[in-house]
Amino acid sequence: MTLSVQSDIPFLTELRHDLHAHPELRFEENRTAALVASRLRTLGYAPHTGIAGTGVVATLDTGLSGPAIMLRADMDALPVRETGTASWISRNEGVMHACGHDGHTVMLLGAAESLAAQPPERGIVHFVFQPAEEGGAGAKVMIEDGLFERFPTQFCFGLHNWPGLEAGRLGVRTGPIMAGGWRFRIVITGKGSHAAQPHLGTDPLTIGAALVQEAQLLVARRTDPMVAAVVSFCIFEAGTTDNILPQTATLAGTLRALDPQVLNDLKAGLARLCSGLAEAHGAAISVDFHQPYPVTVNAPDATDLARAAMLRLMEEEGGPVPELDIVPSLASEDFGFMLERKVGAYAMIGNGDSARLHAPDYDFDDAIIPRGVRYWHTLARNCATAL
Ligand SMILES: [Zn+2]
Ligand SMILES: [Zn+2]
Repeated sequence: MTLSVQSDIPFLTELRHDLHAHPELRFEENRTAALVASRLRTLGYAPHTGIAGTGVVATLDTGLSGPAIMLRADMDALPVRETGTASWISRNEGVMHACGHDGHTVMLLGAAESLAAQPPERGIVHFVFQPAEEGGAGAKVMIEDGLFERFPTQFCFGLHNWPGLEAGRLGVRTGPIMAGGWRFRIVITGKGSHAAQPHLGTDPLTIGAALVQEAQLLVARRTDPMVAAVVSFCIFEAGTTDNILPQTATLAGTLRALDPQVLNDLKAGLARLCSGLAEAHGAAISVDFHQPYPVTVNAPDATDLARAAMLRLMEEEGGPVPELDIVPSLASEDFGFMLERKVGAYAMIGNGDSARLHAPDYDFDDAIIPRGVRYWHTLARNCATAL
C-alpha cells in the first residue's frame, strides 16, 4: 500500500509563520496553545487543555484494542532577539522561536490531521503539545500534572529538527541520544580591596578565573577520553570599576554528559574544586546545582519502530537515507523525563544548512514539514500493526 497522507501543508506553513511571528516563552504559550486546541477541534478532536499550564493533549482512539502511543511536540520559544529577515520574524521583541518548536508544533498538528483521515488499524494515539521545553522542564511538569495517568500510554516518541543534518533526513539511535545536565551557580565571596594592594584583600576574580580553568580538567583529566562530557561556564560577573578588586564574583554554567554516572562525577568534581579553592585562597565559595535534566535514552524496541518508519518512508517516497545510528548530542532535552518513565524514542529531522539552534538568525525550514508529518503518520500506523 502506498502512503497517502492527507494534511494541508500550505495551512501548516502559514500557521508556522504565524507562530514564529508570535513566539511565547516557557509556560506563557497561551496564544500558541489556543491556536493548537482550535485546530484540533476543527479536525474533530476534543483536546484537553491547561495541562502543566499551557499543555494540550488530543487523543485519537480507534476503538479497537491495541497499543497506546504518545507523540510529543514542544511549543515554547526563547529569550533571543531575532536578526533574520523573513517576513514572519518575531513581532515579540526579544523573544524568538530559535529552536524550531514552531515547526514541531505544526508537524504534529499535520499528523493529527492525516491520522484522523487515515487512522491506525487499532490502538490509541495521544498528541501531546508540551510547554516549556527550554529550561522549564515542561515534560516533567506535565508528568506531575498526571499526563500518564490521564492518558495511559506504552510508548512515547519525540522529534527535533537538527541544523547541519541534510534537510528532511531522519535520524535516531538506540541508547543515549541527548545529554543529561545540571546547571550550576557559584558565588565566590572574598574581600574587596584597592587594586594596588591585592594582598590586603581576597580577590574573587582571580579565584574565579582559576576555577574556570581547573574545571576544564574535570573533563580533560578526570573523565575517560572515550566518554562524552562538557563543562561550560556561561556567566562570570564581578567588579564595578578598574581600580577596585571586588568583594564577590558570580559564575554560572552547565555540566553535560551522556552517562548519568559521568554527570554525577562532574558534579562532585566541581563541588570539590570549589571547596578546595576556597580553602586554598581563604575565600567562601558556594555552589548551587539546579535544573537537573536526565539523559534522554532511547529504548531498543521503540528505536526499532522509529527506524522501521524511517525506512518505510524512504521506500515509499524516496528522499534522504535515514541515519539509523546517528551521533548523539550533548544538548539536553526534557523529553528525557518522559523516557525515564516510558519506553520510547527521540528522533531528529535534518533542518539543512541553517543557522544553529538558539542562534539569532536561525529559522525552521518549511520544506521539511511534510517529511515530519509523514514520519509521525507512518510511525503511528506502523506501531498499530507491529505491537
Ligand atoms: Zn528545542
Ligand atoms: Zn532549544
